[in-house]
Amino acid sequence: MLDSKIPSGPIDQKWKNRKFESNLVNPANRRKHTVIVVGTGLAGASAAATLGELGYRVKVFTFHESPRRAHSIAAQGGINAAKNYQNDGDSVYRLFYDTIKGGDFRAREANVYRLAEVSVNIIDQCVAQGVPFAREYGGTLTNRSFGGTQVSRTFYAKGQTGQQLLLGAYSSLMRQAGEKAVEIFSRSEMVDLIVSDGKARGIIARDLVTGELTSHTGDAVILATGGYGNVFFLSTNAKQSNASACWRAHKRGAYFANPCFTQIHPTCVPVSGDYQSKLTLMSESLRNDGRVWVPLKVGDKRAPGDIPENERDYFLERMYPAFGNLVPRDIASRAAKRMCDEGRGVGATGLSVYMDFRDAIQRLGKPTIAGKYGNLFEMYEKITDENPYQVPMRIFPAVHYTMGGLWVDYNLMSTIPGLFVAGEANFSDHGANRLGASALMQGLADGYFVIPYSIANYIGGTKLAPIKNDHESAKAALAESGNRLENLMKAKGSQSVDQLHRKLGKIMWDKCGMARNEAGLKEALGSIKKLKEEFTNDVRIPGDNRLNSELEKANRVADFLELGELMCLDALERKESCGGHFREEMQTPEGEALRDDKNFSHVAAWEFNGSNPKLHKEPLVFENIHLAQRSYK
Ligand SMILES: Cc1cc2nc3c(=O)[nH]c(=O)nc-3n(C[C@H](O)[C@H](O)[C@H](O)COP(=O)(O)OP(=O)(O)OC[C@H]3O[C@@H](n4cnc5c(N)ncnc54)[C@H](O)[C@@H]3O)c2cc1C
Repeated sequence: MLDSKIPSGPIDQKWKNRKFESNLVNPANRRKHTVIVVGTGLAGASAAATLGELGYRVKVFTFHESPRRAHSIAAQGGINAAKNYQNDGDSVYRLFYDTIKGGDFRAREANVYRLAEVSVNIIDQCVAQGVPFAREYGGTLTNRSFGGTQVSRTFYAKGQTGQQLLLGAYSSLMRQAGEKAVEIFSRSEMVDLIVSDGKARGIIARDLVTGELTSHTGDAVILATGGYGNVFFLSTNAKQSNASACWRAHKRGAYFANPCFTQIHPTCVPVSGDYQSKLTLMSESLRNDGRVWVPLKVGDKRAPGDIPENERDYFLERMYPAFGNLVPRDIASRAAKRMCDEGRGVGATGLSVYMDFRDAIQRLGKPTIAGKYGNLFEMYEKITDENPYQVPMRIFPAVHYTMGGLWVDYNLMSTIPGLFVAGEANFSDHGANRLGASALMQGLADGYFVIPYSIANYIGGTKLAPIKNDHESAKAALAESGNRLENLMKAKGSQSVDQLHRKLGKIMWDKCGMARNEAGLKEALGSIKKLKEEFTNDVRIPGDNRLNSELEKANRVADFLELGELMCLDALERKESCGGHFREEMQTPEGEALRDDKNFSHVAAWEFNGSNPKLHKEPLVFENIHLAQRSYK
């Protein structure tokens, strides 16, 4: 039975209670303990910096050449916090409520309440670090709105919020590196987890330049390795983002929760050709001012400027008048798909809809719009050669974020004692759909404010035998990693890693993407099985086991293939629609997601068991928020 270790007491006292009952480690003893952090995005950098500052010995790993390159740097639109600076009705409770409802009632109440509570501290922390959040003329921090809310609580730095937040966390990390509290291993990829006596005690890392495998042991391991959206090949994620750290931990005993919960973001630059390797997001913040529409008539091929007002369908405003263009992402994505399925999509492929700034430019003036979104407009123009100040942007949904991840309890500990998971890599806070601007909030909440308590609680309350890098369990994991890489190199087949990855992506998008059904998911499971064999026998990895980006990719794609299979199985098992998981068999007469609370109000946590994954269920209990059909009308 999964124990989520939710503290006792009323919802607003739980985190206070947990902090008070937690074990502590005295400052003089902290330097005797080594904590390994994998990942230097917002979650990893903030955790490593804070633990270093507290006095632990921290080793932090990233496959990037600099911690600053983590995918978090790409985040555009903003970070939520319940500061209520706008005096528009926001509160910790409302952020909690919006997030539970936005996640379609598939997240744990206690975690989400803590997230909302801690959100206010994050802004203070970042401002103290010098993060240049946008301000009003008089100097106060300004806010904008994101989907699924009726208040303005999103703090931002133009369309580069992730970059600015990461520079803040990175500065703190480098300060600790300067103090010798944190040791940074860049271009080092974790390829396995070391488990000894049932506890996570270290990692095997591969030096991506020399190919050397080394073991690193310690008292606790934190994975902050990001999401797995690239299983779809095409996504808005950084090309190198992958699932391997989590998947290897899964194979060592960490349960994987809700793997099928993927977020498809409504406003991305549409796919333009067969050889495209990446998709680009146009931030949700644009929906504050951009109006989404399609022509009223099927097959209307006129230029957007030639279509008069009364022949346009502002479909989000029409269908969801209360939230309009700012409905949550799952809802907006499905609505856009529906318009394209009806034959009202625009552009050469008919697979896009307009996001139009004409009215906002007339109302506010071009300089104001440029001040808010200038870099996004520039990015759009560079990619499409169309000027969004003059013609509407064309957008279409794309894979963006994964709500699923390693299962963690309230303390962010996985089912392997001593293995903690932070940021997008865990499943904890967003249920079946994540609201915009809440991933940055979660990453920093985990790293700056939750992990430090969790690590003290664990280390202070656990007997940990000394362990060295040449311990038997480390030697065994090191040997297994070496064999795995050698086997990959042996195939000498005819297909590149990307070719095979692209095939996996197509199966996932077609059968486990914006809409899923039983027949399609079963077909996908069969196709992935065949593709796995094709990969084993026919992948071609040129070069040798040293600096070799093809080998790095192959190692990751082998894991994506297994994870893709689990995602389809999870989607097949969950015979309800919720958030981003839309089972075509389960919809309301208006085409909205139809949940089945009686049978599926649980977290699906999968245990690795060879080709027969075992399902464990953590029931979700809603004591504070009434379960209801989501409505944004
Ligand atoms: C284009 C885009 C825009 C976004 N905009 C927003 C936004 O405006 N607001 C918002 O809230 N969210 C946004 N998001 C989501 C958000 O950016 C991410 O969810 C978040 O940054 C993830 O942070 P993280 O620290 O969990 O992981 P990441 O930033 O992905 O960092 C992962 C780290 O782990 C390391 N790593 C991974 N595997 C290994 C391994 N095996 N060995 C060693 N190192 C490893 C990587 O090197 C990296 O350092 C956006 C996402 C995208 C794609």
